[in-house]
Amino acid sequence: MGLFSKDIKTLDDLFVHTLQDIYYAEHQIKKALPDMMEKASDPQLKQAFKKHLGETEEQIKLVEKVFGLHGHKPKEVTCPAINGIIDEAQDITSDVADKKVLDAALIAAAQAVEHYEINRYGTLTAWAKQLGREDSAAILHQILEQEKATDVTLNGIAKSSVNTKAA
Ligand code: FE
Ligand code: FE
Ligand code: FE
Repeated sequence: MGLFSKDIKTLDDLFVHTLQDIYYAEHQIKKALPDMMEKASDPQLKQAFKKHLGETEEQIKLVEKVFGLHGHKPKEVTCPAINGIIDEAQDITSDVADKKVLDAALIAAAQAVEHYEINRYGTLTAWAKQLGREDSAAILHQILEQEKATDVTLNGIAKSSVNTKAA
């Protein structure tokens, strides 16, 4: 679906396109998380990444369910935003020498990812409701809450230990 092809005509089309965008993003996140887990030194942070990898795998299945409810086959469209966020995360984390500072960098990068997802799932939930798809909205809202909880967890780890150790 190209930028100039005008394939998106209705809110329904836009909903499906955005679902394809987040489906691609979740796959990229699934690929990036093991590396972040590997790089993390703080045991709580390592554990948080591990937990969210499991959740991400579940979310991919849930998004597939939403495609199904909408009468579409799961399909990915490239999300330049998540590619940029992950590229930046890989750049910065390979440039940080100190392990404790690296943990702070990992949290910042991971929170950028979660914030992108919170943004997208918030929009998708609202559009699903608008389109009269309460079934899809409930699933998307469930994922949204999981992304928000992850953000809160990361914030907690940063404030309770990682930032202090990094300073
Ligand atoms: Fe996710
Ligand atoms: Fe995107
Ligand atoms: Fe997430």
